[in-house]
Amino acid sequence: MTTQNESFLSSVERMFDQAADLVGIPDDLRHKIKVANSTYTVRFGVRLRNKLYTFVGYRSVHSEHREPVKGGIRYSPHADQDEVEALASLMTYKCALVEAPFGGSKGALVIDPNEWEPHELERITRRFTQELAKRSLISPAQNVPAPDMGTGEREMSWMADEYKRLYPNDLNGWGCVTGKPVSKGGIRGRVEATGRGIQYALKEAFRHPDDIEHAGLSGTLEGKRIVVQGLGNVGYHAAQFLSQEDDAIIVGVMERDGAVVDEAGIDIDGLHKHIHDTGGVKGYQGYTPDSDSVLKMDCDIFIPAAMEGVISADNADAIKAKIIIEAANGPVTFSANEILRDKKCLIIPDLYANAGGVTVSYFEWVKNIGHIRFGRMQRRQHERQTLDMVNAIEEMVGKKFPKGHLERIIEGPTELDLVRSGLDDVMREGYQVISEKWRSDNRIPDLRTAAMMIAIERIRDSYDSLGI
Ligand code: NAD
Repeated sequence: MTTQNESFLSSVERMFDQAADLVGIPDDLRHKIKVANSTYTVRFGVRLRNKLYTFVGYRSVHSEHREPVKGGIRYSPHADQDEVEALASLMTYKCALVEAPFGGSKGALVIDPNEWEPHELERITRRFTQELAKRSLISPAQNVPAPDMGTGEREMSWMADEYKRLYPNDLNGWGCVTGKPVSKGGIRGRVEATGRGIQYALKEAFRHPDDIEHAGLSGTLEGKRIVVQGLGNVGYHAAQFLSQEDDAIIVGVMERDGAVVDEAGIDIDGLHKHIHDTGGVKGYQGYTPDSDSVLKMDCDIFIPAAMEGVISADNADAIKAKIIIEAANGPVTFSANEILRDKKCLIIPDLYANAGGVTVSYFEWVKNIGHIRFGRMQRRQHERQTLDMVNAIEEMVGKKFPKGHLERIIEGPTELDLVRSGLDDVMREGYQVISEKWRSDNRIPDLRTAAMMIAIERIRDSYDSLGI
């Protein structure tokens, strides 16, 4: 996808160059890190509706300094090579930043999933998987796709199943993709992970009063007015958690067919159900066809969670949000970033903000190659040990623990508890290192450049130790 002035890939590359200048790495290594190692285009036929349809798919491998490489597969009629390469490069930087031990990759199928029946999509997905498998572009050891725009648990399940059919002897076969349903080797908490990560990232940002004040805000998330673009997997979960658990107010939601505005706070579950039932936001209370005015409305936090390039040099000046957290990949172009930075808007960049997805994918992959659920060995041991301690305390003080508390204290962690704990840790630490970097040197203009610098430094170190 390209915007009027600047392609997605060139925008990411300009962000990379700005950070690489500050890191000061040699030109030859800079070039090696920046370019995609390979991008595979496949055109394959599937006979459907009495006709042979030719589909175009991509899988780009940006960097193999760590393997397997990792990154989602999106189904979108607008996907092209530029977009896939930009997304693959962001995956490299994202994994380095949050210390997920992967190189970066990304894939796409040029398709509008709404135009096909589920059984047709399944055949198309299985054929695409065969094409990827032929070239080791899906494999637990080399390349591990995940869901992205237009794909989810269902598509990952078809892919894993097809891979298992092709390679029945691969003991780690379920680790060939992440984002699978739990019944097919998935992990609890993966579906919500990217949205949950957005919530954790914002909570950590609000624990840094200097950063929040920079954007003209103070206090906590409670009562903050939020606008969300795209109520799909990422946008829905982020909006739901922030409104239900942190008492933020979702005042605007933009979708493909218009927007919904409600100053009292939109019922996210109600709207989500309406979209599911009717295919869009039209007809919901507070509906307006004028999405553009919602994009430009006064709010504390804007969460773009749909697609890239939605804030460009053309509209950045009109954006009034004080914080933008990039749930989507590449929603703010390089030029727009400069304009918003001058307006003191705090942009929490994609390569950190939406890393919750790959983080929990990493946990899922570890679960698959470890062949055991997290917490299985420890849970009851923890329960017994804590109960022993509780009994000893009760005996010593001659009083009983209050019942509700007792149950919570002795209960060992479930897989979901551990996944959320791991994700929270990654998101907190991630914010701390980029904020600290930003504050450490006044030549570093923003959180994005700081995040990119940390990623580049880690990849450089990895190349140094590769000895090439
Ligand atoms: P999704 O397909 O579940 O949701 C996308 C939503 O955006 C849909 O509801 C769609 O109708 C809406 N949308 C599309 N075009 C729009 C437009 N022009 N205006 C307003 N709304 C529009 O996709 P997703 O998985 O939630 O991914 C969204 C973004 O988050 C993408 O940029 C993706 O790369 C990024 N991301 C996703 C994950 C993940 O785990 N799914 C992880 C990291 C980053």
